[in-house]
Amino acid sequence: MSEVLVLVDHVDGKVTKPTLELLALARRLGEPSAVLIGEVADAAETLGKYGAEKVYTVSSAETDFTDYLVAPKAEVLAQLVEKTRPAAVLVPSTGETKEIAARLAVKTESGLITDAVDVDGDGTTTQSAFAGNYTVTAKVTKGTPIITVKPNSSAPEEIGATGTAEAFEVTVPDTAKTARITSSEPRTRSARPDLEGAAIVVAGGRGTGGNFEPVENLADSLGAAVGASRAAVDAGWYPHAFQIGQTGKTVSPQLYVAAGISGAIQHRAGMQTSKTIVAVDKDDEAPIFELVDFGVVGDLHSVLPAATEEVRKRKG
Ligand code: FAD
Repeated sequence: MSEVLVLVDHVDGKVTKPTLELLALARRLGEPSAVLIGEVADAAETLGKYGAEKVYTVSSAETDFTDYLVAPKAEVLAQLVEKTRPAAVLVPSTGETKEIAARLAVKTESGLITDAVDVDGDGTTTQSAFAGNYTVTAKVTKGTPIITVKPNSSAPEEIGATGTAEAFEVTVPDTAKTARITSSEPRTRSARPDLEGAAIVVAGGRGTGGNFEPVENLADSLGAAVGASRAAVDAGWYPHAFQIGQTGKTVSPQLYVAAGISGAIQHRAGMQTSKTIVAVDKDDEAPIFELVDFGVVGDLHSVLPAATEEVRKRKG
């Protein structure tokens, strides 16, 4: 069976959940080989547990990868594609990794599919297109299939094995090092999970009237991320980084709770692939109710606190 390369996304020395999801998808296509650029503790154990048969730990005598953004990483993957001739390369869908995938596609003269929400064993991918109004299946027909996959597209599968670590020494050409990071400042992080990778999202809209406290409290009781509609963002009630929709972030969590959001097509574009959708709106004719699994007609300022209290009670 051929190898399937999986680019490891990691934050603060920890492998992200979308990477573990990719390993589960990669097992459908062949033998997953994780590609680790950077430091992760117990990488072979962690990644092996979720299906990586091999873990390429990348190093370079003359290049410190933390000094650069995407180009050297694309170069690493290109060299690994050359060496291993994999059945496919799977990459998590983040802003940075999508650019790496695009550069890799150019370097290897291969087809690229971005933002897949599923990948079959024969390499056929599923994408949600045109604001989620169409489901598209597509397959790469040229070169090595390079596929970026959205978070929460599959569940991580614990197989309990240990991967074999294999050092991969690269020389990065100067052409891939023409832009260097000269300084960086960590973003002040909230204790909440990252919006795009969160398993649960609670979002508030114009119906909050500017008071996001009930939305944040419910989110915190569920360990969820907070999102907002554009109306709420435009009103200055919540920062733009949390906007969900056509001109904001796209999320696909296991559970999406919309509170005081009418369900305009541009908002749906960013959330309608969520697995379970719950809405709270005081208008029983709000379009959001057309796509919910569970709808509550009522005032969010009383429904959300009641739900929060119940969640906290059940969690003990
Ligand atoms: P509204 O449509 O005003 O809905 C508010 C809802 O709250 C109503 O259903 C109301 O019944 C309910 N409500 C009011 N009070 C309460 C209460 N106390 N309790 C419970 N329910 C209550 N929008 C996005 O969200 N994301 C985007 O990325 C985006 N991009 C856009 C791009 C373009 C090019 C355009 C033209 C528009 C875009 N929009 C986007 C805007 C979109 O069309 C809608 O205007 C917006 O989503 C509406 O936000 P809302 O649902 O919060 O507000």
